[in-house]
Amino acid sequence: MQYDIFKKELMACRVCRERFGHEPRPIVHGSHKAPIVQISQAPSIHVHNTGLPFNDKSGKKLRHEWYEISRETFYDPHMFYITSVGKCYPGKNKSGGDKKPPKICAQLWLEKELDLLQNDLYVIIGKSASEYFFGDIPLKDLIMKDHTIRGKPAVVLPHPSPLNVKMFKDNPDFFSKRFPQIRKRVHDVLINHTKR
Ligand code: SF4
Repeated sequence: MQYDIFKKELMACRVCRERFGHEPRPIVHGSHKAPIVQISQAPSIHVHNTGLPFNDKSGKKLRHEWYEISRETFYDPHMFYITSVGKCYPGKNKSGGDKKPPKICAQLWLEKELDLLQNDLYVIIGKSASEYFFGDIPLKDLIMKDHTIRGKPAVVLPHPSPLNVKMFKDNPDFFSKRFPQIRKRVHDVLINHTKR
């Protein structure tokens, strides 16, 4: 299958309309040839409304404090392909947080999508996405090591949501020791891709 055909079919998907109680809006961003593929949980309500992934406080933190790259680079379709295990905003749960992405979404779309991507590095963000790839290995362990997905290098990040305070407090080593390595990895991939 060609990527264009995949994307057209994905954008037309409304399988979860009844489950969500609102009109699904599948969101991915970037070229399937981008060197970095970033995979997170699912769009937030703000992303659902704007159609642009990480166009919220989490994205600002991710770009400017974590990756230390500009908004332009982050949204350059030739640099980042941004997707998630659930492609649509799933609505709120009873406690006011976002619902988990429906499993059917990854079953229908994610493996097909990964077959078509030509990246050099995966960046997996947050618990739902890490569970999809690494099962029940705790996120606090995953974030400290390098991994491989489909034979390509992969790193794992906690979700950059400003509400994720406990994770940040409980893992000071991640930010002081591990994160500089991940940031360098991301910068190296971007620089190498620019030179090609
Ligand atoms: S969440 Fe996934 S399966 Fe459900 S409507 Fe959106 S694209 Fe389709």
